[in-house]
Amino acid sequence: MERRKVTFKLYPNAAQSARLEAWTRLHCELYNAALEERIDAWRKARKSISYYDQQNVLPQIRADRPEFIALGSHALQQTLRRLDLAFQSFFRRVKAGQTPGFPRFKSAKRFWGFAYPDPAGWKLMPHGSRGATLRLGSGDAAMSIRARGRHRFGVEAKPNDITVTRRNGAWFVSVTLRVPDEACARQRTGDQRRGVDFGVTDWATFDDGRTIDNPRWLREELPRLAALQRQRARKRKGSVRYKRLSQRVARLHDRIGNLRRDFVHKETTRMVQQCAVLATEQLAPKNMSRSARGTADAPGRRVRQKAGLNREILSAGFGMAQQMLAYKAEEAGTRLHLSDTRQIKPSQWCSACWEISPKTLGDRMHICPHCGHVMQRDRNSASVALIDAHTPGTGVAARPKPLPRQRGKSKSVTRETPTTAPPGA
Ligand SMILES: [Zn+2]
Repeated sequence: MERRKVTFKLYPNAAQSARLEAWTRLHCELYNAALEERIDAWRKARKSISYYDQQNVLPQIRADRPEFIALGSHALQQTLRRLDLAFQSFFRRVKAGQTPGFPRFKSAKRFWGFAYPDPAGWKLMPHGSRGATLRLGSGDAAMSIRARGRHRFGVEAKPNDITVTRRNGAWFVSVTLRVPDEACARQRTGDQRRGVDFGVTDWATFDDGRTIDNPRWLREELPRLAALQRQRARKRKGSVRYKRLSQRVARLHDRIGNLRRDFVHKETTRMVQQCAVLATEQLAPKNMSRSARGTADAPGRRVRQKAGLNREILSAGFGMAQQMLAYKAEEAGTRLHLSDTRQIKPSQWCSACWEISPKTLGDRMHICPHCGHVMQRDRNSASVALIDAHTPGTGVAARPKPLPRQRGKSKSVTRETPTTAPPGA
């Protein structure tokens, strides 16, 4: 059994929406009350209160405040557990010599939502190709909320627990599914061996010269975001107009995030489906954020503001792509090779003679001073990563010719799994 998370969007009607708000407020109230109790007990009696102390009071609370009954006892326990977690990580970090912030009181407006830790108190019923109904609560307080979303795991996947959250005025339910191993596996349609390099000019470049264009939303939505942010900058902070614009900025951010996730999902799925071996450079988050401003190897003066925004948005997508490639490769039985950039620098090495040919971010062509090899920069990087994926002797189509000399053979990470069963099967 594997666990997989899927998110459905909820479409509550006005009454349901009001009730979801009310429930979230009650959960928030419980969280804050429990936090206050812990603080008080410590202040007055130097006594620390455990999760179980608090859980044992829940029946009393439900007796005194019947409005808590509809929320379900397990969901209430889950909120207390969340507070307990906050304390645990606080103490852990104190112990480690850090200076963490003390767990805070939350405002109901910002409270994240609530969760059911097991299959009790709710039911998710899929219907059609992407429709579903979420039933929450029991008895008079029960409600059936329309939902949309789908997953590829089939009817064998059993929902185990859910989290209901609110973001920018919209409601979502995130479901953990227990999926049989065989339902996790992905079909592979090809046996290619490909190196791929992610970049800002083209979103992805393969070692055979094929490229994936930057997504359209980058051209269409980002200028809108920049314009909104400029508009907001002219308003007085805290004014009605400022808040209204902030809301629009937040929604557009959400939209861009959704478009990006969708794009990266589709492209990474296609990559692992087509490839038996996929090689790329291991991303260092530091390398990514550095480039917008520029450093020694990339003087950033000429990087325009917009290019910076593009890069920032894309960079998040590169990290996401690598994470998705990692788990999808495992599911498809594709070997994903990540070149360790501390040992081998795909952008600086020559894929033909394996010598170093230094270049700046601005150099779009790879022109090797040693062997004269000329290739588009990103394509050369992809080729280097692919060669790195094949150890001497096993390299097949990837290596153009026997290497005259190999410097610092990299100790790169390789994820490999058999096609039939994921690990742990
Ligand atoms: Zn060369």
